[in-house]
Amino acid sequence: MDVAKTFDKLELLRFAFKDLQEDELLQMAALTEIKTYPPNHVLCREGAYEEIFYIIAEGTASIVKKFDEQGEERLLRIVSRGDLVGEMAMIQAAPRAATVRALTELTALEMEKQDFETMLAQSPRMALEIIRTTLTRMRENDRMLIEDLRKSNAVLQQLDRNKLEFIQVAAHELRTPLTVLKGYAKLLSASSELKANAVLGEALGGILKGADRMHEVVNMMLDVSRIDSETLKVLPTMLSVKMILAELLNALKHESAERNIEITIEQDETLSYIYADPSLLQKALYQLLVNAIKYTPDGGKVKISVQPAVLDEKIPAVDFRFEDAGIGIDLEHHELIFEKFYQVGSVALHSSGKTAFKSGGPGLGLAIVRGIAKVHGGKAWVESKGHDEAALTGSVFHLQLPLETQRT
Ligand code: ADP
Repeated sequence: MDVAKTFDKLELLRFAFKDLQEDELLQMAALTEIKTYPPNHVLCREGAYEEIFYIIAEGTASIVKKFDEQGEERLLRIVSRGDLVGEMAMIQAAPRAATVRALTELTALEMEKQDFETMLAQSPRMALEIIRTTLTRMRENDRMLIEDLRKSNAVLQQLDRNKLEFIQVAAHELRTPLTVLKGYAKLLSASSELKANAVLGEALGGILKGADRMHEVVNMMLDVSRIDSETLKVLPTMLSVKMILAELLNALKHESAERNIEITIEQDETLSYIYADPSLLQKALYQLLVNAIKYTPDGGKVKISVQPAVLDEKIPAVDFRFEDAGIGIDLEHHELIFEKFYQVGSVALHSSGKTAFKSGGPGLGLAIVRGIAKVHGGKAWVESKGHDEAALTGSVFHLQLPLETQRT
């Protein structure tokens, strides 16, 4: 064996494994081979099963890991003299967890998997030393990733605040001209000339309907911004459940009739009253019924049931349950649909109209429902076996509110 190389090897091994004795280092040196690679040479490739362990002698290499599905790489660290590379996959008998690429000309001591295992089996101290180095490095990786997550989280929170500000500004800016538009349209509708002209009357009806829908969307934007900025106030009063449901059906009677959707109500007789904010409760129930109609094909059925429930295993509550025979929702969207602006599928494919089948809305309805549930101390969620427009799997939305909500 080349004496100079053996010497080089020992010096490097002493540097890499400070706690090992000379005989152990000699034993290790005998099992390694020294090799030099050009810049850009890949020593380990992420995902591949490779059976070589390296100790860097000279030069530097980058360790990178794929960050997302698009294959974007993230630099984990730069390794240089004395660093170990590739031992993790060998200990675990797993594919490489990252790619190691030479940044300069690189010289390394290499050891085959079989020799590596023999060496670990013969020297528990050596095994411990390698495990220690590996664990330290894993901890460092964790620390870096957590730091990255923290930074990304701060950026996301800032983006969310920007979004919230935009909603607030847009809603306020739209509200005034909209009120003016509606005021003039109403004034016109009182004119006898217009009443006598069927075509103009119909056009004006269209303008009023459109303005009402815009008003509804602007109000939803304001509700969402109040929910997000935690300024939504709850003014609870004693409410008759029967009355609330009757008002709800009345508010959407034209829409359900237009789509020929049969709505049935099942109310537990022991539940006659709930202490909640009337306007907020009405808004939440309205959104749930709009969606149940919207995502059920013409001629379908929607069942609303109101049952006693218990929140957090102790608080008496009311469960408003909306069961539709509609297109259903895949599990992966069950939580996300409660985020503002989230819609399943491509928005461009949606038809228009508030309750037309699968018509697109602003994606705010369920965020409002959940926000209203939260300010009452309740919760909202969905159950569905998945999206299936042929079998019409349907969805069941729950809104659970305490029987008695405190004023905020
Ligand atoms: P949108 O204005 O789009 O209706 P929502 O917040 O009310 O916004 O709903 C978010 C998304 O959840 C909808 O775009 C739709 O994909 C899905 N969704 C809501 N309710 C139902 C339902 N009853 N059946 C199937 N999908 C629904």
